[in-house]
Amino acid sequence: MSVCYLNGEFLNLKDAKISPLDRGFLFGDSIYEVFAAYDKKAFRIEEHLDRFYINLKEIKLTVNISRQELKNIIELVIQKNDLSNQIIYLQISRGYEEIRNHVPDIKSESTIFICSFPLKNLPNHNSDKVKISLREDFRWGKSNIKSTSLLANVLYKIQGNEENLDEIILHDNGYITEGAVSNVFCVKNKKVLTPSLQNNILPGVTRSVIIDIVKKLNIPLAESRISVEDLKNADEVWITNTTKGILLVSEIDQIKVFREDMIFKEVQEKFIQETLA
Ligand code: PLP
Repeated sequence: MSVCYLNGEFLNLKDAKISPLDRGFLFGDSIYEVFAAYDKKAFRIEEHLDRFYINLKEIKLTVNISRQELKNIIELVIQKNDLSNQIIYLQISRGYEEIRNHVPDIKSESTIFICSFPLKNLPNHNSDKVKISLREDFRWGKSNIKSTSLLANVLYKIQGNEENLDEIILHDNGYITEGAVSNVFCVKNKKVLTPSLQNNILPGVTRSVIIDIVKKLNIPLAESRISVEDLKNADEVWITNTTKGILLVSEIDQIKVFREDMIFKEVQEKFIQETLA
C-alpha cells in the first residue's frame, strides 16, 4: 500500500480524492515539487522547499501550514512508505472554490497533497546513455516557476516517446534553454557550460548540485548562452534532474554526439557519493 497525505489526513493513495472544482484541476493553479529520498533520507529537501516557497510567493499562493509542519508531514510520508528509495511528489493548489472564477477567492484553503513513488533509478556508474532531440521552445514565458501547467512539456514528452527518445531539449531563438523535464550541460575543450538562469529555465536543484561539484573539482564552468550548434558540437552533453540524476547523451537527432565521457565520469562519481552521504 502506498501512503499519501491529503489535507490533514494520511490515506491509502488509492482512496485520495479531490474535487473537480479544485483550482489545480481547473486552472493548473498550483505549484509542485519532486524530490528523492535515498535510504529514507530526503535529498536536498531545503533547496527543494526554498524553490517551492519562492514559487508559491511568485503566484501569490498562501499556504495554511508552516514550512516546519510541511517538513514533518513529508518526513512522515517517507517513513510510512515501505521503500528505502522514494520519489516524493508534493503539490499545493489554491484549493477548492464553489464557483469557477479566474480570480481566486481569498478565503479558499489550499489543497496540500504529498505522495511517494518508488525511485527506480538509483544514481549509478552504469546508467544508460540517452538519446535526445532538439525542438523550438514553445512553453510559456515563465519557465522558472515549477507550475503544474505542464501541457507543453507533456506534448514534448509524448512526441519523444513516439520517436523513442529519452528527452527533448528545447531552444529559443537559437539558444538552448533546458529539457522538457531536465536541465542541460555540455563540455567543450574541458570547460563545462550550462544555460544561465536568465534563459527562462527552471532552477533545477540537481543542476545546482552539479554546478557545485564541478566547481569543487576545479573544472572551469560558465553559466552562459549555448547555441544549438554549440550543443551539437560539444564534446560531452549531460542532462540532469531529480528522478534520473545525471545522464550522458549519446545522440542528438539521430546523430552520435557522444565523443568523450571523462568529465562526466568524474562528476557522476561525486554525485553518487553525495546521494550516499
Ligand atoms: N527543468 C524542467 C522543465 C523540469 O521539469 C525539471 C524537473 O522535473 C528540471 C529542469 C530539473 O529540476 P530538478 O533537478 O530540481 O529535478
